[in-house]
Amino acid sequence: MVNPARPHVLIIDDEPEIGKLLAQACEYAGYRATATNTADTFREAVLAQPEFIIMDLLMPDADGIELFRYLMENKIESGIILVSGSDHRIIQSAARLAQAQGLHILGTLAKPFEIADIPLLLATRQNGRPAASHSTMGQITPADMEQALNNNQVIAYYQPQVNLKTNSIMGFEVLARWIHPEWGLVSPIHFMPVIEASDLIERFTECIIDAAMVQMSRLAAARIKLQCAINASALSLGDVSFPDKLIAKITAARINPGLVSVEVTESKLFEDSVKSLDVLTRLRVKGFELSIDDFGTGYSTFQQLQLAPFSEIKIDKGFVLNCNVDTEAQTIVRTSIELAQRLGIRCVAEGVETQAVAHLLKDWGCGVAQGFYYSRPLPADLFLDWVQASPLR
Ligand code: C2E
Ligand code: CA
Ligand code: CA
Repeated sequence: MVNPARPHVLIIDDEPEIGKLLAQACEYAGYRATATNTADTFREAVLAQPEFIIMDLLMPDADGIELFRYLMENKIESGIILVSGSDHRIIQSAARLAQAQGLHILGTLAKPFEIADIPLLLATRQNGRPAASHSTMGQITPADMEQALNNNQVIAYYQPQVNLKTNSIMGFEVLARWIHPEWGLVSPIHFMPVIEASDLIERFTECIIDAAMVQMSRLAAARIKLQCAINASALSLGDVSFPDKLIAKITAARINPGLVSVEVTESKLFEDSVKSLDVLTRLRVKGFELSIDDFGTGYSTFQQLQLAPFSEIKIDKGFVLNCNVDTEAQTIVRTSIELAQRLGIRCVAEGVETQAVAHLLKDWGCGVAQGFYYSRPLPADLFLDWVQASPLR
């Protein structure tokens, strides 16, 4: 009997035996699965927007790359797992290509693969889809964001960071969310550019920092001491009064600046280099930790590390997510960890989604991990509950 509540997995593999095997593995893990073995039947079935797709890259009547284009054109939002008999590096560059086209790749598998990996990859996403997609939201305007701030719809979520050596929670990152009355949870990826392009950044930053300080005070009242990481917009770094404003807020909340780290995205760092160096140096002098965010994705990483007094490298999730299977990503992650060690600064890996990756990072000497494997970003109350109930204390 078909249970429509079970997420649907659509499989395409030209070898019917493999298709059947994959379908059985999905059914066994609690999903509803359909296997197709020609590109035409797949093209038709996928229009029903299954939650997940498992796709063989190489088939006689079409190749996976061609199918990506079809999925894109039809705005298919399924979470996709790629399988292939070819070299792992080819699947990985195909995955990058698909991601660049806006498809949601959950992972890649090289044949022969462990059938047990399938449910693990499927489980990385609750129902295959992101919360609200950009196509349903339309264009966000500065007026929308002003209203959102007026109505207290912009709030902070908190995601734990775990010390890998002691296996205990060491802190959290503060991540902004917009709770829209119709669209639900809207990601900062969609609204940050609007905020940064309008004159709302100061109000926004104040709202997020205030929320973070309330959370720090609540933790302190429960005798829990955690490090708080705040994302700074490039605009704040161009504002020479930013360090003083931050100090004023944390002094009012009776919080030690050493417990607060400011994350800065390297690609935006030196748009106005003299001003941002001034701000970064003063933040450090005042006792804040300074973190270079999205490490490895910018243009002049090394120069920035040399110029500004960073106390932490935060390796971008683009490298961390698949570093257990992607050899290039692995090299970049390990080299970044080593670099942090040699500089004597902390290294945080974001985007840790599996135990396998967490174990590897620990073996490689990475200090701190953050990602869905531990917890998704949570609203304030749920985060407090999570910390209090967690075995990682
Ligand atoms: P970021 O600073 O690189 O933050 C990490 C992003 O990775 C967050 O996305 C987080 O939810 C996501 N993430 C965490 N763990 C995992 C994981 O295991 N797997 C995957 N796939 N993703 C994971 P989010 O919350 O959507 O934020 C996106 C970006 O928006 C942030 O990237 C940051 O640049 C910006 N942002 C968020 N909050 C603020 C804020 O308060 N102020 C400023 N200026 N920027 C913010
Ligand atoms: Ca960050
Ligand atoms: Ca990042």
